[in-house]
Amino acid sequence: MPLLELENVSVSYGRIEAVRGVSLTVEEGELVTLIGANGAGKTTTMRAISGIRPLSTGTIRFDGRDITRMKAHERVVAGVVQAPEGRGVFPGMTVIENLEMGAYARTFKTKAEHDATLDNVFELFPRLAERKTQVGGTMSGGEQQMLAIGRALMARPKLLLLDEPSMGLAPMVIQQIFRIISEIHDQGTTVLLVEQNAQQALSRSDRAYILETGEVTTTGPGKDLLVDPAVKAAYLGVA
Ligand code: ATP
Repeated sequence: MPLLELENVSVSYGRIEAVRGVSLTVEEGELVTLIGANGAGKTTTMRAISGIRPLSTGTIRFDGRDITRMKAHERVVAGVVQAPEGRGVFPGMTVIENLEMGAYARTFKTKAEHDATLDNVFELFPRLAERKTQVGGTMSGGEQQMLAIGRALMARPKLLLLDEPSMGLAPMVIQQIFRIISEIHDQGTTVLLVEQNAQQALSRSDRAYILETGEVTTTGPGKDLLVDPAVKAAYLGVA
C-alpha cells in the first residue's frame, strides 16, 4: 500500500479548475517530484495534500487512512508536514524559536527524543546551529529556506512536502539545498517535492509526475524522464 495516494483529485478556485482528476502515489521511502510549467497546478496539488484547499472531487489516502476531510493541523499530527510556502519563517523569532514552533504538533515522549530531533536538524544545517539566536527575518534567502525545512523536520514528518525550495536562490545555494534534500531522503524520510529546477530534481528523484494544465501527462522514474525527448524539450531547455 502506498504511503500517499491521490485518486482522481480535482481542486477549483471558483470556476477555475486548477487540478483535474490527478491520481498519484508516493511509496514509503521514495523521493517523488512534481514538475510542471507555471500555473500547471503543482502548488494547488500540495495544498490539497496538506489540507489547505478542499477537493471538489477525489480521495486522498495517507498511511492507510482516508484523510480527504481531515483538517490541516490534524494531518501534521498524522505525519504530513509541509515546509512553509515561500519560506514563511517567523521573521521576528530567533532560529531556535522558529524550530520549536515546528515541534508544536509533535508531543515528544521524552526530552531526549526532542533533543535528538533538534540535533539532527543542526547536523543537516550547521548554519542554523551557528545562528541559533539570530532573528529569522535577518537571515539570507538560503538560510531562511534551511530554517523552513528544519522547522518542518521538527514535526518528525512521515511525508515531507517541499514546494519549490530552490526558488530565488543562487546556484551554489540551490546545490546545497538539493544535497540536503537527498540527505533527508537517505535518512528515511519520504519526500514529495515540487520543483521548477527539473534537472536537479529529476536526477535525485525515484519517480516524477509531469503536470500540464492541472492534469498528469507523464510519469516514470526520474532518470528516465531526464532522457525523455519531450521532457527534455519542455522542461530541461534542450531540444
Ligand atoms: P507556479 O509554478 O507558477 O507556482 P503551479 O504549478 O504551482 O504554478 P498553481 O499555483 O497550483 O500552479 O496554480 C494553478 C492555477 O490555479 C493557476 O491558473 C492559478 O492562476 C490558479 N490559482 C492558484 N491559486 C489561486 C487562487 N487563490 N485563486 C484563484 N486562482 C488561483
